[in-house]
Amino acid sequence: MNTIKNIFCIGRNYSEHIKELHNETPEKPVVFNKPTHALVKADGRSIQLPNGQGEIHHEVEVVIKLARDYEVGSTVDDLVEKMAIGLDLTLRDVQQTLKDQGHPWLLSKGFPNSAVLSRFIRFPGMEASKQQSFSLLVNDKKVQHGYMKDMLFDLHQLITYIGTNFGLKKDDVIFTGTPSGVGPLHDGDQLSLKWNDAEVGSCSIEMK
Ligand code: ZN
Repeated sequence: MNTIKNIFCIGRNYSEHIKELHNETPEKPVVFNKPTHALVKADGRSIQLPNGQGEIHHEVEVVIKLARDYEVGSTVDDLVEKMAIGLDLTLRDVQQTLKDQGHPWLLSKGFPNSAVLSRFIRFPGMEASKQQSFSLLVNDKKVQHGYMKDMLFDLHQLITYIGTNFGLKKDDVIFTGTPSGVGPLHDGDQLSLKWNDAEVGSCSIEMK
């Protein structure tokens, strides 16, 4: 994880999630960044989150990691060997204020420990990945469940868009968007990140 260079994130990439937050469906991928200081491993540890700034929502997402530099014409299968399940933690009330003001989302998305990552696992390939699902359990209850095939912009469109506009290189990661079911975390919550039926990461939440 220490080698990760850039963290790209995709907003509004699953239609049911767009509806639940009453957002517009985008015509191009909505891309934002997190600082690498936001990274933390879901390896069973307790994760400290800021208290007193309103709700912090979980957003479970598939995260892909670049094994090579993007070049024009690169395919997902050329570039991606590893993936993880991640949480794009979001200060939702802060984000709403920023949206209302037309400001960037960084303050709501970039705080320490806001980019949670499971262990990295083998990426099954572009076609096979479309049959896979991922989920988040909070205190043993499944709160989010998504299928990769339901992305509005698929992995190929995402790497092409990011590679073209920003450059995309070895050891960059992309959080590929969250399905519906986002909601607030609370002090003491136990989280389990799953790829299909297998737990690949876990952590507990400590509000400080
Ligand atoms: Zn997200």
